[in-house]
Amino acid sequence: MSILLKKCAFCGSEIEPGHGWMYVKADGTILYFCSSKCAKNYIKLGRNPKKVKWVRKKAKGAKVKGKGN
Ligand SMILES: [Zn+2]
Repeated sequence: MSILLKKCAFCGSEIEPGHGWMYVKADGTILYFCSSKCAKNYIKLGRNPKKVKWVRKKAKGAKVKGKGN
């Protein structure tokens, strides 16, 4: 038994079945989001995930460039 986990289009984390959002653009592109936070950042605020701090933190895990604290 295998379950295909979809990846969030914004933060890249895996989405469990029955969770998250599916967003279909006018051109037919299907995007999956793990949370409304990711969906709003992408759709409403039009942010680039590469430029968002908390996305980079999630992707890198413990290895984060801090502010020098
Ligand atoms: Zn996400």
